[in-house]
Amino acid sequence: MTDTFTIGDRDVLLVVDIQNDFCPGGSLSVPRGDEVVPLINDLAGRFSHVVLTQDWHPRGHLSFASSHPGKTPYQTIEVSYGSQVLWPDHCVQGTAGAAFRKDLKIPHAELVLRKGYSRKIDSYSAFYENDRRTHTGLAGYLHERGFARTFLAGLAFDFCVRYSAEDARREDFEAIVIEDACRGIDVDGSMAATRELFTSLRIRCIPASEVGDGLVNP
Ligand SMILES: [Zn+2]
Repeated sequence: MTDTFTIGDRDVLLVVDIQNDFCPGGSLSVPRGDEVVPLINDLAGRFSHVVLTQDWHPRGHLSFASSHPGKTPYQTIEVSYGSQVLWPDHCVQGTAGAAFRKDLKIPHAELVLRKGYSRKIDSYSAFYENDRRTHTGLAGYLHERGFARTFLAGLAFDFCVRYSAEDARREDFEAIVIEDACRGIDVDGSMAATRELFTSLRIRCIPASEVGDGLVNP
């Protein structure tokens, strides 16, 4: 097998939202979301540098349908920064649902980036909140660390992975999505829209088998 990508010291793996609420049994379950965990553990071993993201909402968050009387999950509403899909309550700070999956084993992760903690703004992306202006600080962190390429895996392909990959490009990082290490939700054609967007932004989708061992943690 020929690996397409040899992983080096300027590469970072972003592991997006591998949390209980996004897996079967959770309140915002991504179908078969739990299946990616063993693959992501294996992938992470091929990277010296790994960042985990964690959706981390206060109670009563604007993205929760329960915060809007008469609304139900998966409806879209207009808010100050544009359209917002409403979700079941999920990843509430300090709850079991917000915790990382117990079978996620990446002890060498260097940063846990929490997002979505502003009550009135959602944050799909690890780089910007959904107003597309408020930074999370991740771009500065990655630039200061000297990274050039971001590899992305996790949940959900068509929301938090999508927006994070898009913003990685916007922040002048290369963005490569490891597609078999993601699962999607597919709300109103969001899977197809994500693929189109990735093509237009030259964001590559590859299988995990194309990620080779470069600098590997012992
Ligand atoms: Zn959320």
